[in-house]
Parts: sequence; structure tokens; C-alpha cells
Amino acid sequence: MANKCSAQTAIIMAYRFVEEVIPPALTYRFLASFVTMWEVKIYKGSRMLFSNLLVVEIDKNHDVAVEVEGKRVIVFLIHTENVEHIVPTLGSAIQECLTAAIHRISEFYSLLSGHEDANVKQVIPFEIDFGVVCKSWFSSSICFFPHKDMATAGRFKCQNGKSHEVKHLSIWFAEKVSSEKCEDTCPGLERVALEQCPLNQHIRRLVAEIDPYKCRNIIVHLGVTINTWENLEYQFQHQNPDDLKFMAVLKWKEENKDASFSKLQEALEECDLNRHILCQVLRDIDPEMHKEYLDKYSSKIREKTPSISVLRCIANHIGESSLQLGIELGLDIVEIQHIQCQFKDKLLDQNREILRRWKQNKNISKPTVENLVKTLCRIGKKKMFRWSSFLSYISYNNKIRVNVVWLVIFLIIVRAQKRFLSIGFSSTPVGYYAYLRNQNNRKGYA
Ligand SMILES: [Zn+2]
Ligand SMILES: [Zn+2]
Ligand SMILES: [Zn+2]
Repeated sequence: MANKCSAQTAIIMAYRFVEEVIPPALTYRFLASFVTMWEVKIYKGSRMLFSNLLVVEIDKNHDVAVEVEGKRVIVFLIHTENVEHIVPTLGSAIQECLTAAIHRISEFYSLLSGHEDANVKQVIPFEIDFGVVCKSWFSSSICFFPHKDMATAGRFKCQNGKSHEVKHLSIWFAEKVSSEKCEDTCPGLERVALEQCPLNQHIRRLVAEIDPYKCRNIIVHLGVTINTWENLEYQFQHQNPDDLKFMAVLKWKEENKDASFSKLQEALEECDLNRHILCQVLRDIDPEMHKEYLDKYSSKIREKTPSISVLRCIANHIGESSLQLGIELGLDIVEIQHIQCQFKDKLLDQNREILRRWKQNKNISKPTVENLVKTLCRIGKKKMFRWSSFLSYISYNNKIRVNVVWLVIFLIIVRAQKRFLSIGFSSTPVGYYAYLRNQNNRKGYA
């Protein structure tokens, strides 16, 4: 399977069983549960269903392959063209489905193998790994690492000494389907998300939902000292109150190697806060929900890169949220703080510079209108769409361009016709005589 998949088309994860012996029936049952969920893929006339490999078709562009190899059950999410096009909410949903299924099945086999108390639900223990295709001259294999170790820097160094790009693997957990709030049946974050270390964006979204007093309690529960909080309070007294809260939780993340969503969840619960705040933190945002502000938000516009003049217009509306904007766009904290120093007390310049760097640096997040609109919604600036006509500005720019093209074509046609007419006029005798006759007639009347 590793030979067929390349790093360009697939993201990989695996369930690794800890015990020496896994009941073989367990893995078959897992494969069987797949077939009930999705259609088996037909490839060149044959069904992709074998004793240790199964491929199902999720939709026109996405397939999932499952391969059993020793103590690992390996899952590939494959896009027909490129991982970049994998729908992120689909990746998260598939992972949740599969992890829940394998959890249930291993619970069932744990009961069968006669663990002491049937009332205490036990699970045949398994760990979750992420994988990357590792290609060398002669072979290609998969390098696995515990998913918790997913470096926030986006790279992983494997035992073959290669440095793998792992940014795309966050598709497995980071974008839950967008929704205003959790369903009553929502169990909270699932296992993979809980074991992950929150990104800066996640911390920003979390603290935005918590008032400063409660946030102070939370960071004390997380083990950051009151002293640190008060120092930060002094340092950030003139900034957006969300900045202080963010920096305090960031401090915790930077000082603790085992920082994770589950630690945050514990702290929230100890402070009587709803843990479903964390569900929202990991949700995709759907600007379509704010249709009233975004009447011109078509799929054609979404993929465009906003021009510098559009970004300058947007910068006018950001105000004191420059740190918030920078974090959400994916800029490095050090870089944002450097910009804040460079343009001290000049908020407009800070915001312009942050937007400019985002547009320039293709590594952070794709500089598209879609990502920009999502960011503005997330930092609470969706109302600006109503006042600033920035979307109509973008489509207006397009229309002008289209009109210019038509104008040029029109002029070319007109000129060509003129030339054609004048050629016809001077070279054909008929035209020439007609001309002369006209001249004569006119003379006659004169
Ligand atoms: Zn490798
Ligand atoms: Zn929830
Ligand atoms: Zn404006």
C-alpha cells in the first residue's frame, strides 16, 4: 500500500495494539464494520477486498484504505489528486468514526477474553500513530510516530534521518464540522483531539470565550503562578484583554511538554466551565452562516488572493486586535511581537504589516479570500462585511478587468473592420467607381 500511496495523495494514521496477541477476529471485525459504512472500491474491475486490505470509496474524490500489518491497523485517506484538496472536515469525521469503531470492538473482545468484572468496561489497549511515506532510492515504507508528538513546527525527523512535513496530518482531528453549538448528545472531544497539544489558534479561540477572572483561575489550575499572571497583566495592560489571557495560557503550553487538550479540559471542569467550549475551538467555521453580511461570497471569489488594496481596507477595521489577527492567520508569535514593537502605538500599521506578511508567506495558510473571511469571522469582525464593501470591491475589481478585456477585443474588431473596409474601398473597382459616381453626383448638384 505504501508503494501505491505517495505523500502527495494520502494522509496516514494507525491503531497500534499494545498487547502481544491481538485476536485476529478483532481486525476482521473492524474491516467488516467498514464495509457496512461505505461501498467497497472497484478498481480495474475487481473489488478491493482482501484478507488484510480493504479499500472503500467515500465519494468521487476520496478513498479510504485499511491495511492490517502485524500489530498495526493502518488507515490511508487518499485524494485522487492531492492531499491539499482533502476536505478537512471529512478527515476529522472519518477518524472519529474509525476510532469509535475500533474502541467498541476492542471493548467487545476484551469482554470475551474474560476480564474480571463485566461491568467495568475494559478495552484491549491501543495507541494511535500518525504516519508518513518515507521514500528512498529502492523502496518506500511508512514512518510512524505517536500522534501526540506531532511537532507544532510541522516537521518530524524519522529514524532514517529524514525530516518529514507533517502539517497535513492535522486533517485527522483539527476541523470538526461547523455548527453554532454542540448537540445534546455531544460527548465532548474525542480521543485523538484530547491527546493533542493545542495550537496557538486553539488557545486564542478558547480564551476569547472565557472572562479574565475565570481565565486567571484556569491558569492557576494549570500550574502557572499568580506572579506570572500579574507580570503579564502589567505588560499587556494597554492591549486587547484577550491578549493577556492568550499569553498566560501560551506560557503554560511553552513550559509543559505534556500540554494537551485533556489538561485544558480538566482545568475547565475544575473551574465550573463547560468543556464543550473546546469542541467549538476545533470546529471549522462556515461563513455561509453569516449570509446577511456576505451576499457576494461565491465560490469563485473564495479562491482568489486578496489584493494589497483590499488588505489595506480591511486593516482599517481590525483596531486593537492585531495580535488576535496575527495568531489566527498563523503567524509566529515572535514575528507578531516584533511587528508590534516595530510599529509601536501605530495599530493601523501593525495590522497592515500582519496582513501583508500573511499574503507574502505562502507557508502559513493559503492567502485566499476564504481563509481571510474565516479569520475575520473568528476574531469577531464579521460585522465589517456589512460596512466595508470589501467583497463587492473584490468582485468589482474582477468586473472591471473583464470589461477592460471586452473593450480591448471590441477595439481590435473595430479597427480590423475599418481596415477591411478601407481596403475594400480602395482596391475594388466597383467601390472605386461608386465613389466616383457619388463625387460626380455631388458635383452635379453643386
Ligand atoms: Zn522517514
Ligand atoms: Zn461538545
Ligand atoms: Zn474598509
